[in-house]
Amino acid sequence: MPKKEKKNEKVDEFIRPDGRKYDELRPYKIRAHILKNADGSAEIRLGGNWIIAAVYGPKEHFPKFEISQDRAILNCRYHMNPYSTSERKSPKPSRREIELSKVIRNALTQSVILDDFPEMSIDVFIEVAQAEGSTRVASITAASVALADAGIPMRDMVVGCSAGKYNGHIILDVGEIEDKEGEADLPIAIMPNLRKVVLLQMDGKMTHEEFKKAFDLALKGAMQLYEEQLNALKNILESMSTLGEGEINEKK
Ligand code: ADP
Repeated sequence: MPKKEKKNEKVDEFIRPDGRKYDELRPYKIRAHILKNADGSAEIRLGGNWIIAAVYGPKEHFPKFEISQDRAILNCRYHMNPYSTSERKSPKPSRREIELSKVIRNALTQSVILDDFPEMSIDVFIEVAQAEGSTRVASITAASVALADAGIPMRDMVVGCSAGKYNGHIILDVGEIEDKEGEADLPIAIMPNLRKVVLLQMDGKMTHEEFKKAFDLALKGAMQLYEEQLNALKNILESMSTLGEGEINEKK
């Protein structure tokens, strides 16, 4: 075999720590309407990530002095359980969790039509049951499905995905080892139909070319996850149309 071909083959055959190809997502599944007591809910499994999002509202906001007279307040809490990481994490909210709550809130705020609910609030609770890298974008993806499940009007779904650089290769959907040992991490979230980016962060270093390749890969991954969001919502609509109200509550 000529030398040149052999080299390309090697690039194509680059295998990642968990056996994936450079442009492969981890196995994923999204389910909507999983909690009995929230107004809307969803869970995402993405590789070893297992994240549950619950939505309450729109509801009257307390304390009254905080209300906004022309739009609802969107509250967001991202929380990692002590058992979600390999070493027990303190249950107290860390600086990282406070920051990620804000980052996720900023992304979702661009889609939720808050003007429809003056003086009210909408709460989004995100519980990371198991973490394995790229939890912020997986959380956004689950939260958007939970908001839709709660019937909250949105301009578009919001879906997140990450790309990065590991061992010199640009890769899709950064896992925990790749996050910790890799050269760069690029989480993004988009509104797929409006073609708008609502989150873009980068940790590490990439060249301009590498950034472009990583961004395109993350977009491709986000579109795959968007299809899964729609499937999750379709599944719940279908089960509602074939069940009586009482049965729906039991099925929850
Ligand atoms: P993201 O989860 O969005 O990638 P980070 O880059 O901060 O956010 O975290 C990368 C990964 O590191 C997480 O997904 C998780 O698997 C792991 N991790 C985060 N915080 C902790 C912690 N306190 N203890 C152990 N592992 C953690």
